[in-house]
Amino acid sequence: MAIDIRQFLTTVKKEVKNKPVPVVDLIAVQTEDPYRVLVATILSARTKDETTAKAAERLFKHAPDLSSLAELSPERLEKLIYPVGFFRNKAKYLADLPGALRKCNNIIPDTVEELVKLPGVGRKTANLVVAAAFKKPAICVDTHVHRITNIWEYVDTATPLQTEMALRKKLPQDLWIPINSLLVAFGQSICKPISPLCHLCQLEPLCPQKDVSPRKIASSKNRNHLTFISWNVNGIRAAEKKGLVDILQEFDADIIGLQETKAHPDQLSENLKNIKGYHVYWNSAEKKGYSGVALYCREKPLRVTNGIDVDEFDHEGRVITAEYENFFFVNIYFPNSGQKLKRLDFKLGFNKALHRYLDNLKKEKSVVICGDYNVAHKEIDLKNPKSNEKNAGFTIEERQWMDSFIDSGYIDTFRMFHQEPEQYSWWSYRFNARSKNIGWRIDYFCVDEKSRNGVIAAEILQHIMGSDHCPVQLDFRPLT
Ligand code: SF4
Repeated sequence: MAIDIRQFLTTVKKEVKNKPVPVVDLIAVQTEDPYRVLVATILSARTKDETTAKAAERLFKHAPDLSSLAELSPERLEKLIYPVGFFRNKAKYLADLPGALRKCNNIIPDTVEELVKLPGVGRKTANLVVAAAFKKPAICVDTHVHRITNIWEYVDTATPLQTEMALRKKLPQDLWIPINSLLVAFGQSICKPISPLCHLCQLEPLCPQKDVSPRKIASSKNRNHLTFISWNVNGIRAAEKKGLVDILQEFDADIIGLQETKAHPDQLSENLKNIKGYHVYWNSAEKKGYSGVALYCREKPLRVTNGIDVDEFDHEGRVITAEYENFFFVNIYFPNSGQKLKRLDFKLGFNKALHRYLDNLKKEKSVVICGDYNVAHKEIDLKNPKSNEKNAGFTIEERQWMDSFIDSGYIDTFRMFHQEPEQYSWWSYRFNARSKNIGWRIDYFCVDEKSRNGVIAAEILQHIMGSDHCPVQLDFRPLT
């Protein structure tokens, strides 16, 4: 049965309401400047939006308009736009752009036919510029638009060009401009190229799902183990704007421990406080906007405890413990030793008190200990060990504490399965560290020695964005 495209796109619009706006649309809205839209569109090809946005910002500082762009050499352009995909080619296109536009009186053309004559501008780019910069009817068919309109059997085409031509014939003209940004956001978040999240999609009952293999969800009800997630979200309210609520649901985890929430519950949206199927618990720091941990638990714990019962450390919202019949789940945001190691002593004191607290728990039953430990244990756990030996998170004192913790009978579950280097869970926001994988592994799931046999898998979920940390996962079967 043929789909109702207007109804489908209206539903998509609701689905992507809180998703990030594609960078080119953002620049179009913010600047209303065809030059910037054209340049950003060239940069955006085969590049993540986050990377494009940063490269465009750097470039526009030095080349706010066409005449200043003409002053920059290809080598300088390469440096400014790195690491966008194909940066060398794109730098050359940008260097050639002012010359090519001289034939058009230095005015950016507003037709696809004229735009495709410019260096580095294909049909997709030209359509996007016409639509985003000039608000003239144009259909930008990128991989998401091509793929999803075929999945919906709205078109039956083999190439993006064929899709564009087919859409020109049947898509109502008022939908030409919005279809691109809607389906890009939808394709990046829900109708993903590999294993789309049909189980979360409002269109699922109506969608023809042509040639689709939906993600297989081993529902938590059917699993014979528990799945746990730990994630330093670096501000839960900021992470919400980057899609945290959807991501938490997609985990389909039994317990999720979040660190560095930086908020009190009364500052949070109802969406964050009421995630369907979860009981939520908070331990916030007294100081506003600082530290804080949270737990999302599918099964209600027998008891939840905040802190470790040491007054000196319990004002900073660093530890929350959920007790179940067969295990304790302890979620921790370890202190950072700080600049010039000003808080190193505080951190070592906290670690020692926490160690005592965990030793007491493990006398009763299994203990699962997750969180941002704020220490890279060994040289393999960070990209640049030598240059960080005196820095917070890799000092000899912090590493010695981690040695003593492991030696006393706790297992770093990730290293049970993975010995390879360059497996990190945190990257600085500076210097494009994440895209270059200059990172640290400082987020761990540890268990006590007797629970070792309950550990089924441990992973770092590096593909999940939304914070300067990525989540880590533990699959665990509690001992009975
Ligand atoms: S049901 Fe699946 S294939 Fe169809 S639109 Fe939704 S996510 Fe895509």
